[in-house]
Amino acid sequence: MGSTRRRAIVIGAGIVGVCSAIELNRRGWSVTLVDRLDPGEGCSYGNAGILAAQAVVPVAMPGIEREAPSMLLDPESPLVIRWASLPWTARWLWNFRKAANAERLPAAADGMKALFGTTVELHEALARDAGVPDLVRPTRYLYVARDPAKLDVENGLSWRLRRERGAEIEVLDGEDLYAAEPELTREYKRGVRLGPIGYTTNPFRLTQSYARLFQREGGRVVKAEVRALRPAGAVTGLETSAGQMAAESIVVAAGSWSMTLLRPLGLTLPLIAERGYHVTFADPGITLNHVISEAERHFAVTSMEMGLRVAGTEELGLADDKPAWRRADVLERQARAMFPRARLADGKRWMGPRPGTPDSLPAIGAIPGHPNIFIAAGHGHLGLTGGPNTGRIVASLASGERLNMDLSPFAPDRYGSRSAQTVEVALMPGRAG
Ligand SMILES: Cc1cc2nc3c(=O)[nH]c(=O)nc-3n(C[C@H](O)[C@H](O)[C@H](O)COP(=O)(O)OP(=O)(O)OC[C@H]3O[C@@H](n4cnc5c(N)ncnc54)[C@H](O)[C@@H]3O)c2cc1C
Repeated sequence: MGSTRRRAIVIGAGIVGVCSAIELNRRGWSVTLVDRLDPGEGCSYGNAGILAAQAVVPVAMPGIEREAPSMLLDPESPLVIRWASLPWTARWLWNFRKAANAERLPAAADGMKALFGTTVELHEALARDAGVPDLVRPTRYLYVARDPAKLDVENGLSWRLRRERGAEIEVLDGEDLYAAEPELTREYKRGVRLGPIGYTTNPFRLTQSYARLFQREGGRVVKAEVRALRPAGAVTGLETSAGQMAAESIVVAAGSWSMTLLRPLGLTLPLIAERGYHVTFADPGITLNHVISEAERHFAVTSMEMGLRVAGTEELGLADDKPAWRRADVLERQARAMFPRARLADGKRWMGPRPGTPDSLPAIGAIPGHPNIFIAAGHGHLGLTGGPNTGRIVASLASGERLNMDLSPFAPDRYGSRSAQTVEVALMPGRAG
Protein backbone atom coordinates (compact mmCIF):
# COMPACT_ATOMS: atom_id res chain seq x y z
CA MET A 1 0.00 0.00 0.00
CA GLY A 2 1.31 3.48 -0.85
CA SER A 3 1.99 6.01 1.87
CA THR A 4 -0.59 8.76 2.41
CA ARG A 5 1.94 11.02 4.10
CA ARG A 6 2.78 14.27 2.35
CA ARG A 7 6.04 14.02 0.43
CA ALA A 8 9.00 16.34 0.83
CA ILE A 9 12.23 16.28 -1.14
CA VAL A 10 15.36 17.95 0.20
CA ILE A 11 18.01 18.70 -2.44
CA GLY A 12 21.52 18.69 -0.98
CA ALA A 13 22.88 16.44 1.77
CA GLY A 14 25.25 18.93 3.36
CA ILE A 15 24.77 19.86 6.99
CA VAL A 16 21.86 22.19 6.13
CA GLY A 17 19.99 19.66 3.98
CA VAL A 18 20.54 16.76 6.38
CA CYS A 19 19.23 18.79 9.34
CA SER A 20 16.25 19.94 7.24
CA ALA A 21 15.47 16.34 6.26
CA ILE A 22 15.58 15.16 9.89
CA GLU A 23 13.24 17.94 10.99
CA LEU A 24 10.74 17.38 8.16
CA ASN A 25 10.71 13.65 8.86
CA ARG A 26 10.07 14.29 12.54
CA ARG A 27 7.08 16.43 11.55
CA GLY A 28 5.45 13.52 9.75
CA TRP A 29 6.53 14.12 6.15
CA SER A 30 7.69 11.29 3.92
CA VAL A 31 11.15 12.67 3.12
CA THR A 32 13.67 11.93 0.37
CA LEU A 33 17.11 13.51 0.59
CA VAL A 34 18.80 13.77 -2.82
CA ASP A 35 22.45 14.50 -3.50
CA ARG A 36 24.80 13.68 -6.36
CA LEU A 37 27.47 12.94 -3.71
CA ASP A 38 27.35 11.01 -0.46
CA PRO A 39 26.10 13.03 2.53
CA GLY A 40 28.59 15.60 3.79
CA GLU A 41 30.93 15.53 0.78
CA GLY A 42 30.21 19.12 -0.30
CA CYS A 43 31.35 22.18 1.63
CA SER A 44 30.32 20.51 4.91
CA TYR A 45 33.19 18.05 4.56
CA GLY A 46 36.12 20.15 5.64
CA ASN A 47 35.15 23.14 7.72
CA ALA A 48 36.89 24.30 10.89
CA GLY A 49 34.26 22.60 13.06
CA ILE A 50 33.34 25.69 15.07
CA LEU A 51 29.84 25.97 16.53
CA ALA A 52 29.97 29.73 16.71
CA ALA A 53 27.19 30.49 19.17
CA GLN A 54 28.47 34.06 19.57
CA ALA A 55 28.64 34.82 15.83
CA VAL A 56 26.83 38.14 15.42
CA VAL A 57 29.29 40.04 13.21
CA PRO A 58 28.75 39.98 9.42
CA VAL A 59 31.78 39.93 7.11
CA ALA A 60 30.70 43.22 5.51
CA MET A 61 31.58 45.65 8.30
CA PRO A 62 31.91 49.42 7.94
CA GLY A 63 35.50 50.26 6.89
CA ILE A 64 35.95 47.09 4.80
CA GLU A 65 36.28 49.27 1.67
CA ARG A 66 39.42 50.85 3.18
CA GLU A 67 40.95 47.49 4.17
CA ALA A 68 40.05 45.46 1.08
CA PRO A 69 42.31 47.11 -1.59
CA SER A 70 45.55 46.47 0.34
CA MET A 71 44.38 42.94 1.18
CA LEU A 72 43.81 42.22 -2.50
CA LEU A 73 47.37 43.28 -3.32
CA ASP A 74 48.98 41.15 -0.58
CA PRO A 75 49.80 37.60 -1.79
CA GLU A 76 49.59 36.25 1.80
CA SER A 77 46.22 37.89 2.45
CA PRO A 78 43.11 35.83 3.17
CA LEU A 79 40.99 37.80 0.66
CA VAL A 80 41.22 36.88 -3.04
CA ILE A 81 38.99 37.73 -6.00
CA ARG A 82 39.13 35.38 -8.96
CA TRP A 83 38.95 38.06 -11.62
CA ALA A 84 37.85 35.62 -14.34
CA SER A 85 34.65 35.07 -12.31
CA LEU A 86 33.85 38.79 -12.14
CA PRO A 87 30.87 38.63 -14.52
CA TRP A 88 29.22 36.30 -11.95
CA THR A 89 30.46 37.97 -8.78
CA ALA A 90 30.13 41.70 -9.64
CA ARG A 91 26.54 42.00 -8.39
CA TRP A 92 27.51 40.23 -5.16
CA LEU A 93 30.44 42.62 -4.66
CA TRP A 94 28.23 45.64 -5.26
CA ASN A 95 25.73 44.42 -2.65
CA PHE A 96 28.54 43.48 -0.26
CA ARG A 97 29.80 47.08 -0.39
CA LYS A 98 26.25 48.30 0.31
CA ALA A 99 25.87 45.86 3.23
CA ALA A 100 28.94 47.32 4.98
CA ASN A 101 26.78 49.95 6.58
CA ALA A 102 26.53 50.76 10.31
CA GLU A 103 22.77 51.36 10.20
CA ARG A 104 21.90 47.79 9.25
CA LEU A 105 24.26 46.21 11.76
CA PRO A 106 22.03 45.84 14.85
CA ALA A 107 19.27 44.08 12.85
CA ALA A 108 21.81 41.80 11.14
CA ALA A 109 23.47 40.98 14.48
CA ASP A 110 20.08 40.21 16.08
CA GLY A 111 19.18 37.94 13.17
CA MET A 112 22.49 36.10 13.51
CA LYS A 113 22.04 35.71 17.26
CA ALA A 114 18.54 34.28 16.77
CA LEU A 115 19.77 31.78 14.17
CA PHE A 116 23.13 30.77 15.64
CA GLY A 117 22.83 31.34 19.41
CA THR A 118 21.41 27.89 20.20
CA THR A 119 23.79 25.90 17.99
CA VAL A 120 25.63 24.04 20.74
CA GLU A 121 22.46 22.73 22.43
CA LEU A 122 20.90 21.77 19.09
CA HIS A 123 24.02 19.94 17.88
CA GLU A 124 24.43 18.23 21.26
CA ALA A 125 20.87 16.88 21.03
CA LEU A 126 21.31 15.68 17.43
CA ALA A 127 24.70 14.11 18.15
CA ARG A 128 23.19 12.28 21.13
CA ASP A 129 20.31 10.99 18.99
CA ALA A 130 22.79 9.98 16.29
CA GLY A 131 24.86 8.01 18.82
CA VAL A 132 27.95 10.25 18.47
CA PRO A 133 27.78 12.54 21.52
CA ASP A 134 31.61 12.78 21.66
CA LEU A 135 31.73 14.60 18.33
CA VAL A 136 30.28 17.80 19.86
CA ARG A 137 32.14 19.56 22.66
CA PRO A 138 31.96 22.85 24.53
CA THR A 139 34.91 25.23 24.15
CA ARG A 140 35.89 28.88 23.85
CA TYR A 141 37.41 30.87 21.03
CA LEU A 142 40.85 32.37 21.49
CA TYR A 143 41.45 35.28 19.11
CA VAL A 144 45.15 36.07 18.87
CA ALA A 145 47.08 39.01 17.39
CA ARG A 146 50.69 40.10 17.17
CA ASP A 147 49.55 43.72 17.31
CA PRO A 148 47.32 44.26 20.39
CA ALA A 149 45.57 47.17 18.61
CA LYS A 150 43.97 44.59 16.29
CA LEU A 151 42.04 43.25 19.27
CA ASP A 152 40.71 46.47 20.74
CA VAL A 153 37.83 45.03 22.74
CA GLU A 154 37.09 48.37 24.45
CA ASN A 155 36.47 50.40 21.30
CA GLY A 156 35.95 47.92 18.47
CA LEU A 157 32.47 47.86 16.98
CA SER A 158 32.48 44.07 16.47
CA TRP A 159 33.27 43.50 20.15
CA ARG A 160 30.50 45.86 21.18
CA LEU A 161 28.02 43.90 19.02
CA ARG A 162 29.12 40.66 20.70
CA ARG A 163 29.12 42.06 24.24
CA GLU A 164 25.65 43.59 23.81
CA ARG A 165 24.37 40.13 22.83
CA GLY A 166 25.68 38.30 25.87
CA ALA A 167 29.17 37.07 24.89
CA GLU A 168 31.72 36.57 27.67
CA ILE A 169 34.93 38.37 26.67
CA GLU A 170 38.26 38.16 28.47
CA VAL A 171 41.55 39.82 27.46
CA LEU A 172 44.73 37.77 27.93
CA ASP A 173 47.98 39.69 27.47
CA GLY A 174 51.54 38.32 27.44
CA GLU A 175 52.13 35.50 29.94
CA ASP A 176 48.40 34.98 30.53
CA LEU A 177 48.04 34.22 26.84
CA TYR A 178 50.90 31.69 26.83
CA ALA A 179 49.56 30.04 29.98
CA ALA A 180 46.20 29.58 28.24
CA GLU A 181 47.74 28.21 25.01
CA PRO A 182 51.37 27.20 25.65
CA GLU A 183 52.23 26.15 22.08
CA LEU A 184 51.68 29.60 20.57
CA THR A 185 54.70 31.50 19.31
CA ARG A 186 55.70 34.31 21.66
CA GLU A 187 55.20 36.73 18.74
CA TYR A 188 51.53 36.92 19.70
CA LYS A 189 51.05 39.68 22.23
CA ARG A 190 47.33 39.64 22.89
CA GLY A 191 44.57 37.06 23.12
CA VAL A 192 40.86 37.55 23.60
CA ARG A 193 38.86 34.64 24.91
CA LEU A 194 35.25 34.55 23.77
CA GLY A 195 32.52 32.13 24.69
CA PRO A 196 30.73 30.01 25.38
CA ILE A 197 30.84 28.21 22.02
CA GLY A 198 31.32 24.61 20.86
CA TYR A 199 33.13 22.61 18.21
CA THR A 200 33.01 19.27 16.49
CA THR A 201 36.07 17.07 16.26
CA ASN A 202 34.99 15.86 12.79
CA PRO A 203 32.45 17.82 10.69
CA PHE A 204 32.29 15.15 7.97
CA ARG A 205 31.61 12.29 10.37
CA LEU A 206 29.06 14.49 12.14
CA THR A 207 27.09 15.16 8.93
CA GLN A 208 27.27 11.50 7.94
CA SER A 209 26.06 10.43 11.41
CA TYR A 210 23.11 12.82 11.13
CA ALA A 211 22.28 11.37 7.69
CA ARG A 212 22.29 7.86 9.16
CA LEU A 213 20.03 9.08 11.98
CA PHE A 214 17.64 10.42 9.32
CA GLN A 215 17.61 7.00 7.64
CA ARG A 216 17.13 5.16 10.95
CA GLU A 217 14.12 7.38 11.62
CA GLY A 218 12.59 6.34 8.27
CA GLY A 219 14.01 8.85 5.75
CA ARG A 220 15.30 7.88 2.30
CA VAL A 221 18.60 8.98 0.75
CA VAL A 222 18.94 8.93 -3.06
CA LYS A 223 22.21 9.56 -4.90
CA ALA A 224 21.27 11.58 -7.99
CA GLU A 225 21.88 14.91 -9.67
CA VAL A 226 18.82 17.19 -9.77
CA ARG A 227 18.70 18.94 -13.16
CA ALA A 228 15.53 21.03 -12.96
CA LEU A 229 12.46 21.82 -10.88
CA ARG A 230 9.08 21.76 -12.62
CA PRO A 231 6.41 23.34 -10.41
CA ALA A 232 2.87 22.33 -11.34
CA GLY A 233 0.33 23.52 -8.79
CA ALA A 234 0.54 21.76 -5.45
CA VAL A 235 3.12 19.25 -6.66
CA THR A 236 6.62 19.99 -7.95
CA GLY A 237 8.34 17.62 -10.34
CA LEU A 238 12.08 17.06 -10.35
CA GLU A 239 14.17 15.98 -13.31
CA THR A 240 17.07 13.98 -11.96
CA SER A 241 19.80 11.69 -13.21
CA ALA A 242 17.83 8.86 -11.57
CA GLY A 243 14.57 9.76 -13.33
CA GLN A 244 11.52 11.85 -12.45
CA MET A 245 10.55 12.56 -8.85
CA ALA A 246 7.74 14.63 -7.35
CA ALA A 247 6.71 16.02 -3.96
CA GLU A 248 4.34 18.47 -2.31
CA SER A 249 7.25 20.36 -0.69
CA ILE A 250 10.78 20.94 -1.96
CA VAL A 251 13.69 22.29 0.08
CA VAL A 252 16.66 23.46 -1.96
CA ALA A 253 19.66 23.15 0.36
CA ALA A 254 22.18 22.76 -2.42
CA GLY A 255 24.75 25.12 -0.89
CA SER A 256 26.71 27.16 -3.46
CA TRP A 257 24.88 25.43 -6.31
CA SER A 258 21.36 26.37 -5.12
CA MET A 259 20.78 29.17 -7.60
CA THR A 260 21.33 26.87 -10.59
CA LEU A 261 17.98 25.33 -9.67
CA LEU A 262 16.22 28.47 -8.42
CA ARG A 263 17.24 31.16 -10.91
CA PRO A 264 14.98 29.66 -13.62
CA LEU A 265 12.06 30.10 -11.19
CA GLY A 266 12.70 33.86 -10.87
CA LEU A 267 14.79 34.12 -7.69
CA THR A 268 17.69 36.56 -8.12
CA LEU A 269 19.53 36.09 -4.81
CA PRO A 270 23.24 36.94 -5.22
CA LEU A 271 24.75 33.70 -3.93
CA ILE A 272 28.36 32.97 -4.81
CA ALA A 273 31.12 30.66 -3.65
CA GLU A 274 33.29 32.09 -0.89
CA ARG A 275 35.90 29.43 -1.39
CA GLY A 276 37.93 28.37 1.61
CA TYR A 277 40.82 25.95 2.15
CA HIS A 278 42.06 23.70 4.89
CA VAL A 279 45.22 21.80 5.65
CA THR A 280 45.00 19.00 8.22
CA PHE A 281 48.18 17.69 9.87
CA ALA A 282 47.72 14.11 11.08
CA ASP A 283 50.42 13.99 13.74
CA PRO A 284 51.06 17.52 15.04
CA GLY A 285 52.29 16.50 18.50
CA ILE A 286 50.21 19.26 20.10
CA THR A 287 46.58 19.63 21.24
CA LEU A 288 44.95 23.00 21.68
CA ASN A 289 42.90 24.12 24.67
CA HIS A 290 40.72 26.40 22.53
CA VAL A 291 39.62 26.94 18.98
CA ILE A 292 42.08 29.59 17.80
CA SER A 293 41.22 32.45 15.47
CA GLU A 294 44.07 34.49 14.00
CA ALA A 295 42.80 38.05 14.04
CA GLU A 296 45.27 39.54 11.54
CA ARG A 297 45.44 36.79 8.92
CA HIS A 298 41.90 35.53 9.52
CA PHE A 299 42.31 31.78 9.81
CA ALA A 300 41.16 29.28 12.40
CA VAL A 301 42.94 26.33 13.99
CA THR A 302 41.07 23.42 15.57
CA SER A 303 42.25 20.19 17.21
CA MET A 304 40.28 17.40 15.53
CA GLU A 305 40.27 13.62 15.68
CA MET A 306 42.11 13.69 12.32
CA GLY A 307 44.84 15.99 13.68
CA LEU A 308 45.34 19.76 13.68
CA ARG A 309 43.26 21.59 11.08
CA VAL A 310 44.11 25.09 9.86
CA ALA A 311 41.29 26.58 7.82
CA GLY A 312 40.61 29.91 6.18
CA THR A 313 40.79 32.10 3.05
CA GLU A 314 38.02 34.00 1.33
CA GLU A 315 38.39 33.40 -2.42
CA LEU A 316 35.42 34.87 -4.24
CA GLY A 317 34.50 32.93 -7.35
CA LEU A 318 32.62 29.95 -8.67
CA ALA A 319 32.11 26.72 -6.76
CA ASP A 320 33.47 24.44 -9.48
CA ASP A 321 36.61 26.38 -10.45
CA LYS A 322 39.82 24.44 -9.86
CA PRO A 323 41.39 24.92 -6.42
CA ALA A 324 44.33 27.34 -6.25
CA TRP A 325 46.55 25.28 -3.95
CA ARG A 326 48.92 28.17 -3.31
CA ARG A 327 46.17 29.40 -0.95
CA ALA A 328 46.69 26.24 1.11
CA ASP A 329 50.47 26.82 1.01
CA VAL A 330 49.86 30.20 2.64
CA LEU A 331 47.79 28.59 5.42
CA GLU A 332 50.49 25.98 5.96
CA ARG A 333 53.21 28.63 6.34
CA GLN A 334 51.07 30.66 8.72
CA ALA A 335 50.34 27.60 10.88
CA ARG A 336 54.07 26.79 11.14
CA ALA A 337 54.81 30.35 12.23
CA MET A 338 52.03 30.15 14.83
CA PHE A 339 53.18 26.85 16.40
CA PRO A 340 56.98 26.61 16.03
CA ARG A 341 57.26 23.39 18.11
CA ALA A 342 54.49 21.45 16.35
CA ARG A 343 55.12 18.72 13.73
CA LEU A 344 53.30 20.27 10.78
CA ALA A 345 54.33 18.03 7.88
CA ASP A 346 52.46 16.19 5.09
CA GLY A 347 49.30 18.22 5.49
CA LYS A 348 46.17 17.02 3.70
CA ARG A 349 44.64 19.83 1.63
CA TRP A 350 41.08 20.59 0.72
CA MET A 351 39.01 23.38 -0.86
CA GLY A 352 35.30 23.94 -0.19
CA PRO A 353 32.83 26.50 -1.59
CA ARG A 354 31.04 28.36 1.21
CA PRO A 355 27.60 29.42 -0.09
CA GLY A 356 27.84 33.16 0.57
CA THR A 357 25.43 36.08 0.42
CA PRO A 358 26.61 39.72 0.54
CA ASP A 359 25.09 40.36 4.00
CA SER A 360 26.37 37.08 5.59
CA LEU A 361 22.79 35.94 6.25
CA PRO A 362 21.34 32.81 4.66
CA ALA A 363 18.11 32.74 2.69
CA ILE A 364 15.48 30.67 4.48
CA GLY A 365 11.89 30.55 3.27
CA ALA A 366 9.56 30.00 0.35
CA ILE A 367 10.61 31.57 -2.92
CA PRO A 368 8.30 34.21 -4.44
CA GLY A 369 5.41 32.77 -6.39
CA HIS A 370 6.13 29.20 -5.23
CA PRO A 371 4.77 28.67 -1.70
CA ASN A 372 5.88 25.01 -1.63
CA ILE A 373 9.45 25.50 -2.82
CA PHE A 374 11.86 26.60 -0.09
CA ILE A 375 15.46 27.70 -0.09
CA ALA A 376 17.75 26.98 2.87
CA ALA A 377 21.17 28.15 1.67
CA GLY A 378 23.73 30.92 1.90
CA HIS A 379 25.19 30.36 5.38
CA GLY A 380 28.69 31.41 4.26
CA HIS A 381 31.18 30.97 7.10
CA LEU A 382 28.52 29.63 9.48
CA GLY A 383 26.69 26.72 7.86
CA LEU A 384 27.78 24.12 10.39
CA THR A 385 26.70 26.51 13.13
CA GLY A 386 23.35 27.33 11.52
CA GLY A 387 22.39 23.92 10.10
CA PRO A 388 20.24 22.57 12.95
CA ASN A 389 18.22 25.75 13.52
CA THR A 390 17.77 26.29 9.77
CA GLY A 391 16.40 22.74 9.53
CA ARG A 392 13.88 23.48 12.26
CA ILE A 393 12.83 26.76 10.66
CA VAL A 394 12.35 25.44 7.14
CA ALA A 395 10.55 22.31 8.37
CA SER A 396 8.22 24.48 10.47
CA LEU A 397 7.49 26.75 7.50
CA ALA A 398 6.74 23.80 5.23
CA SER A 399 4.46 22.33 7.89
CA GLY A 400 2.54 25.58 8.40
CA GLU A 401 3.71 26.00 12.02
CA ARG A 402 3.88 29.46 13.55
CA LEU A 403 7.40 30.58 14.39
CA ASN A 404 8.22 32.91 17.22
CA MET A 405 11.10 34.50 15.30
CA ASP A 406 11.57 37.43 12.93
CA LEU A 407 12.49 35.81 9.61
CA SER A 408 12.73 39.07 7.62
CA PRO A 409 16.59 39.16 7.74
CA PHE A 410 16.57 35.81 5.91
CA ALA A 411 13.93 36.66 3.28
CA PRO A 412 14.94 34.87 0.04
CA ASP A 413 13.72 37.85 -2.04
CA ARG A 414 15.48 40.59 -0.06
CA TYR A 415 17.57 41.35 -3.15
CA GLY A 416 14.47 41.22 -5.36
CA SER A 417 13.10 38.55 -7.63
CA ARG A 418 12.12 38.74 -11.26
CA SER A 419 8.39 38.69 -10.52
CA ALA A 420 8.76 41.21 -7.64
CA GLN A 421 10.79 43.58 -9.84
CA THR A 422 8.07 43.55 -12.48
CA VAL A 423 5.48 44.51 -9.86
CA GLU A 424 7.72 47.26 -8.45
CA VAL A 425 8.24 48.90 -11.85
CA ALA A 426 4.53 48.74 -12.63
CA LEU A 427 3.71 50.52 -9.35
CA MET A 428 6.28 53.33 -9.66
CA PRO A 429 4.59 56.70 -10.35
CA GLY A 430 5.16 57.83 -13.90
CA ARG A 431 6.49 54.42 -14.96
CA ALA A 432 3.30 52.42 -15.30
CA GLY A 433 2.40 52.05 -18.93
C1 LIG B 1 37.56 26.43 5.08
C2 LIG B 1 36.17 26.50 5.66
C3 LIG B 1 36.01 26.58 7.03
C4 LIG B 1 34.71 26.67 7.57
N1 LIG B 1 34.55 26.68 8.94
C5 LIG B 1 33.32 26.72 9.48
C6 LIG B 1 33.13 26.65 10.87
O1 LIG B 1 34.10 26.51 11.62
N2 LIG B 1 31.87 26.74 11.37
C7 LIG B 1 30.78 26.87 10.56
O2 LIG B 1 29.67 27.00 11.07
N3 LIG B 1 30.91 26.88 9.21
C8 LIG B 1 32.15 26.81 8.66
N4 LIG B 1 32.31 26.82 7.30
C9 LIG B 1 31.14 26.97 6.45
C10 LIG B 1 30.34 25.67 6.30
O3 LIG B 1 31.19 24.59 6.00
C11 LIG B 1 29.30 25.86 5.18
O4 LIG B 1 28.53 27.02 5.41
C12 LIG B 1 28.36 24.67 5.13
O5 LIG B 1 29.09 23.47 4.97
C13 LIG B 1 27.32 24.80 4.03
O6 LIG B 1 26.50 23.68 4.11
P1 LIG B 1 25.40 23.39 3.02
O7 LIG B 1 24.68 22.20 3.47
O8 LIG B 1 24.63 24.64 2.75
O9 LIG B 1 26.25 23.13 1.69
P2 LIG B 1 27.10 21.86 1.21
O10 LIG B 1 27.73 21.16 2.35
O11 LIG B 1 27.98 22.32 0.11
O12 LIG B 1 26.00 20.87 0.65
C14 LIG B 1 25.32 21.12 -0.55
C15 LIG B 1 25.11 19.79 -1.22
O13 LIG B 1 24.26 19.97 -2.34
C16 LIG B 1 24.63 19.05 -3.33
N5 LIG B 1 24.09 19.51 -4.61
C17 LIG B 1 24.25 20.74 -5.17
N6 LIG B 1 23.58 20.82 -6.32
C18 LIG B 1 22.97 19.62 -6.51
C19 LIG B 1 22.16 19.10 -7.53
N7 LIG B 1 21.79 19.83 -8.59
N8 LIG B 1 21.74 17.81 -7.43
C20 LIG B 1 22.08 17.05 -6.36
N9 LIG B 1 22.86 17.51 -5.37
C21 LIG B 1 23.30 18.77 -5.43
C22 LIG B 1 26.13 19.04 -3.26
O14 LIG B 1 26.67 17.85 -3.82
C23 LIG B 1 26.37 19.16 -1.76
O15 LIG B 1 26.57 17.91 -1.14
C24 LIG B 1 33.58 26.70 6.72
C25 LIG B 1 33.76 26.58 5.34
C26 LIG B 1 35.03 26.46 4.81
C27 LIG B 1 35.20 26.32 3.34
